[in-house]
Amino acid sequence: MSVRLRQTLSSLPAYVPGRSVPGAVKLASNESPTGPLPHVLERIAEVAADVNRYPDNASTELTAALAARHDVDPAQVAVGCGSVSLCQQLVNITAGAGDEVVFAWRSFEAYPIVVAVGGATGVPVPLTPDHCHDLPAMAAAVTPATRLVFVCNPNNPTGTTVDRDAIEAFLAAVPDDLLVVLDEAYHEYVTDPEVPDGIDLLAAHPNLVVLRTFSKAYGLAGMRVGYAVAADPAIATALRQVQTPFAVTTLAQQAALASLEPRATEQLRDRVATAVVERDRVRDALLAAGHDVPPSQGNFVWVPWGEDTTAVAAELEAQKVVVRGFAGSGARVTVSTPEDDDAFLAALTTLPPPPSAT
Ligand SMILES: *Cc1c(COP(=O)(O)O)cnc(C)c1O
Repeated sequence: MSVRLRQTLSSLPAYVPGRSVPGAVKLASNESPTGPLPHVLERIAEVAADVNRYPDNASTELTAALAARHDVDPAQVAVGCGSVSLCQQLVNITAGAGDEVVFAWRSFEAYPIVVAVGGATGVPVPLTPDHCHDLPAMAAAVTPATRLVFVCNPNNPTGTTVDRDAIEAFLAAVPDDLLVVLDEAYHEYVTDPEVPDGIDLLAAHPNLVVLRTFSKAYGLAGMRVGYAVAADPAIATALRQVQTPFAVTTLAQQAALASLEPRATEQLRDRVATAVVERDRVRDALLAAGHDVPPSQGNFVWVPWGEDTTAVAAELEAQKVVVRGFAGSGARVTVSTPEDDDAFLAALTTLPPPPSAT
């Protein structure tokens, strides 16, 4: 007889990490193609000597640095083991059995998982035909049972954004005791001035939380550190209440702190600028080859290959280029170095042209 596990586990969608194939170009996980900044790596090595000690459970120094950076009160900040952990904590502080969590679909694949693990009910709201959040439909999907809404801006995996006016209209349409999360994992790559910095919206919206991460533009995906900035300190306190003790390691805290130092600013800005140039170049090349690619404000592009997605992704992988395919829907292709991106574009030219181009 096997042990009795929670029923919900059998219906849980699996999180599919981007595949790492030895010798292949990996464009599947929206990672930074370059290693940590030299002084960040040095800091990690220095503090590695202290790992016989537990980390500071409150991430005190990092919390203060983040509060200073965003000009908010430290009580509004909660640090987490990657912002995906904060997504789970946000569910845990708001929703349980019988409660609903609204998110766009397709969006970040962790949302339905953390909602189901939390015992709540996910309410996915389809993207518009041009791959954007349908905020009016999301507002209409809010019921008295809704406790939390995720808005991913830019959206993973489509790269599309919602602008300031649309978000303001959405916030005006939903109850002000409903927690709204703006997941801004790709905020650093945004160049469209219509897309707001969510932190600027906090002062006027007590029910808003913004998520940021060190995994993407800061190049620290393997360190696992992200944070929430909440309009209301009570939300940040609740997030800290449900966090796994000592979830953010000393290495992660110190790597993040080093990344916030002034000497990191210019180097990080250069890296982001390169990613932005590459994103626009790769999109233009794909459009020229007849692929449909929505404008992206992230470090990736979305190619809606529909039913062909799995076959195209397999063909690319046979040519040592790994993208993140979502069966029946499309592929998310991380932009990387010009060399890696050229490898992707070259591999693609060996495949049959998309139906729309013929
Ligand atoms: C990558 C990503 C995150 C966070 O990742 P962490 O590594 O857990 O900080 C959060 N949201 C979205 C939409 C992402 O794509």
